[in-house]
Amino acid sequence: MAANFSGGGGGRAMLKGLVFDMDGTLTVPVIDFAAMYRAVLGDEGLAAARAASPSGSVDILHHIDTWAPPEQQKAYEIITHFERQGLDRLQIMPGATELCEYLDSKKIRRGLITRNIKAAVDLFHQRFGMKFIPALSREFCPYKPDPAPLLHICSTWGIPPSEVMMIGDSPRDDVVCGKRAGAFTCLLDETGRHCFPESLADDQKPDFRVKVKKPLFMGRYGDMNLYDQMLLL
Ligand SMILES: [Mg+2]
Repeated sequence: MAANFSGGGGGRAMLKGLVFDMDGTLTVPVIDFAAMYRAVLGDEGLAAARAASPSGSVDILHHIDTWAPPEQQKAYEIITHFERQGLDRLQIMPGATELCEYLDSKKIRRGLITRNIKAAVDLFHQRFGMKFIPALSREFCPYKPDPAPLLHICSTWGIPPSEVMMIGDSPRDDVVCGKRAGAFTCLLDETGRHCFPESLADDQKPDFRVKVKKPLFMGRYGDMNLYDQMLLL
């Protein structure tokens, strides 16, 4: 994406809205996804699903979409069990509150898209006292990486995707969703495991990458300049 934007205007496009992922982005990761996948698919099933995936990663929700209703129901029960365990340990990501205050001061809108359930979003809003509107959970179909939820938020706001940024910790879900919608994308990469963008598929390469807990953009994949302090995560 070659466009520039800045907070200073001057003929350049303004960033008017940020849309966040929840688990691992606004909240500290607490769900043991590897254990969840094993519980749903079994060791052999998981190995087979990984082997069948070109990227080696498995999209569990899409995977069980093809199952017969009784098996699918059982799988959803297991997934929900892990998600509810995660709710008990829910913690806000350091810096998220300050970032929201900063966005409010700049009148930049904030929305949320998660593949988690609505009960988790409700608890997040209750516990941490910051609102994301709209906040779409997996009850909104199709979910990420489909661009539909992000396009829905842009439409609700009346803001074109080209003036919105999708932020999340998953190249496969968050970055792909943002790019398909035509938004800017920012990947939270706390561990630095995505520091080699060439290892990502084209539609998973974000415009920006940021390391959580450090007020710096650690890498740049595009030629945009984000204005100072935009993301103090
Ligand atoms: Mg996430």
